[in-house]
This record gives sequence, C-alpha cells and structure tokens, in this order.
Amino acid sequence: MPNNTVVNAIEKDQQKEQESLNLFYSTQTVIQKALNKLGYTQEMYELLKDPIRMLTVRIPVRMDDGTVQIFTGYRSQHNDAVGPTKGGVRFHPEVDEEEVKALSIWMSLKCGITDLPYGGGKGGIICDPRKMSFRELERLSRGYVRAISQIVGPTKDIPAPDVYTNSQIMAWMMDEYSRLREFDSPGFITGKPIVLGGSKGRETATARGVTICVEEAVKKKGFELQGARVVIQGFGNAGSYLAKFMHDAGAKVIAVSDVYGGVHDPNGLDIDYLLDRRDSFGTFSKIFEHTISNSELLELDCDILVPAAISNQITALNAANIKAKIVVEAANGPTTLEATTILTERGVLLVPDILASAGGVTVSYFEWVQNNQGYYWSEEEVDDKLSRVMIHSFENIYQTAALHRVDMRLAAYMVGIKKVAEAARFRGWV
Ligand code: GLU
Repeated sequence: MPNNTVVNAIEKDQQKEQESLNLFYSTQTVIQKALNKLGYTQEMYELLKDPIRMLTVRIPVRMDDGTVQIFTGYRSQHNDAVGPTKGGVRFHPEVDEEEVKALSIWMSLKCGITDLPYGGGKGGIICDPRKMSFRELERLSRGYVRAISQIVGPTKDIPAPDVYTNSQIMAWMMDEYSRLREFDSPGFITGKPIVLGGSKGRETATARGVTICVEEAVKKKGFELQGARVVIQGFGNAGSYLAKFMHDAGAKVIAVSDVYGGVHDPNGLDIDYLLDRRDSFGTFSKIFEHTISNSELLELDCDILVPAAISNQITALNAANIKAKIVVEAANGPTTLEATTILTERGVLLVPDILASAGGVTVSYFEWVQNNQGYYWSEEEVDDKLSRVMIHSFENIYQTAALHRVDMRLAAYMVGIKKVAEAARFRGWV
C-alpha cells in the first residue's frame, strides 16, 4: 500500500498531465507568461485570458429519414480590440466549449503575429460529418448561421473553414446569411468557392504558409531542403498540399498518415498517387495497407516532422524519442508544453502552430479585402503577398525568441498578444 505522500505525488503528476493536455489551460498559462515578460499588469491578463463573448446554440436539423436531430454549436469571440473577430468553424464529434474558446484565443494570436486587422474567433458544431448526407450537412450549416446571425457579420465576426468544413459549407453559410440580411454578403465568410468571391490561393494557403516556415527553419538549422527527409502526420487540407509542396521542392516525403495509420517508405513516397486517391476527409486507407501506426510515425528517423492532424500528439511520453531536427506544427496544439520544453532542450527547432498555420487566415484576410473592394487578384499576387507576410512573421518571432532567450512558442505568444494588449490599452479598456 503506497503511503499518502506517494499517492499525493501520483495525483499531482496525473493532474499535471491532464492540465498539460488541456488546450485551454495551457493557452492561458502561456498567455500569462507572455504578458509577464512584456511587463503588462494582471488586469490585462484578466481581460485576455477568456473570450469576451461565447454563444452556445442548439440547432434542430431534419434528417433524411424524417427524424429531427438537435445539434449543439458554439461561436467564441476572444477579443475585438484590434478589429472584427475572425476564425474557422469546425464540424467534429469531439468539439467542446473549452476547445472552441482556446482556439478563438489562438486566432487572436495568429492575427497578431501576421499583423491582420482582426481579433480572434472560432466556432464549432458537435457532429460527425462523415456520417451525414450532403443535404443534412446543408441544413446543419444553414441552421448554424441562423442561430449565430446576431453576433456575426462582415464587420463583426467573419467565419471560415476549419476541421471537416470546406468551401461548399462556406457557400451554404454565405447564402443563408445573404438571405437573412437581404443583400449579397460575400465578406461575411471566407474560404468560399472562387465563383462566389473566394480567393485564388486560399485552398492551398495553410500548406503554403507551413512550407515557408519549413524553408526558413531549414535555413536557420543550416541544411538543404533538397533531399531532406520529411514526415507528415495527417493528410487533410494542410498535410496533403504540404506533402505536394515538399515533394516539388525536392524534399523526400518518407511517411504520411491519415486517422487510421501511416504509410512509410524510406526511399520516398509517390505523393501524386496518394493525393489522387485521398477522400475529402483526408483518408487514403481504402487504397493502402497501413504499415505503421500514427505514434510510430512521429518517432521515425527524419529531418523534418510536421504534425498536421490533431492536438496532443507529442507529449512528455514521446518527446525524447522524436528524431527530427525541426518540428513545424501545422495542426493546432499538437505538442504539449512539457514536450515543447523537452524538444527545445534537445536542440530541436520547434515552429509553433500559431505561426506555422497562419497562412490560412492570412489568405482569408486577402479574400475579405478582395470582397470589400470587388476587385480580384491573380494567384501569383496572393502567393507573393502570403510569402512576404510569412517570412516577416517567422523572422520576427525567431528574433524575439533569441532576444528574450525563450522558445519560439513563447516568442510567438509575446508577439501575438502584444498587438491585442496594445489595442485594448489604447482603447482605454485596461
Ligand atoms: N481555420 C483556420 C485557422 O485556424 C483559418 C481561419 C480563417 O481563415 O479565418 O487558422
């Protein structure tokens, strides 16, 4: 029978582990650290630690079999001191209120880092789109917009795609909003199909942003991308296009995975073949035998590791076994705070999610600007502008990390939160 001290220590460890896996808790922890480093008061932390607005909605949807199912949805607006709030809507069975809140704070940070005139927002619906028909998804998307319509709008809060939502869903949402308002409102939402005012380059924007971070990180580490071995976890919008861009840049993509597992070939995978065969949920498993599990994939011998799937993949349990020299987080929250410390102490260059995945919202901003001015840019123009934003943001955070002797995650939080805090201070809120 262990004595009380041991039991307390175990409970404490378990509590620490739970806290570190909780995105909302870890976000608040890093925000507090960043504000302290920047010399802000506790009042500023009290303002920024939680969203200013969180709406929970219940959406009745008539299913194809005639029954009615009630779905729960959320829209969180972190802070609108800088400008209207902005961020995606995810459709996923594991969406929960705290996660949506944390993700809305991250959107504030992403917009701060990339210097966009927005605050952060995020939405989510608890549902499994893989088990819903096209028409059921349409009814759910329209019902969500009706339920949140009071708090969103082109100058209030601008939604976008996120996990398991796409340009078709954005089109339904835009149409519903336009009908409610009785005028065409393309600027209400981004990530739309191009014929409805979507931007060229939006579909590939997140992966392009990640690619630029990989290129910059490789330069800092002093090796060539040409021939470097890349492992990508996840084959959704970010992971699949990233695999293509890495392959086109001459890197060797040796492993990729979907939700069920991964394929690995040390000589490099045929990326075009995999891309051709993936479905809209980033799954290629019906075609391939998985040769490794998702956790084995993370520990493969490689130069660059890109977690592009879900949160809490690199934890205190496996961080010591990661062999990559560079980890670029294309997913939201794939590495816990403890794992960040372990990787950084081992000399791994970790490019944090709020920087690496900021390409999507950056081109969303370009889409909104084009909608507002009614004049549309070429793909080259979009890619070129995105590239400039990402290179500048990377360098700024890299230099901030060096100057303050902190890891790139804390540096990114410092850069991102400073913009929100300054806007709030000028407005006289704190
Ligand atoms: N959902 C994406 C993100 O998390 C894009 C958000 C947007 O384009 O507003 O960054």
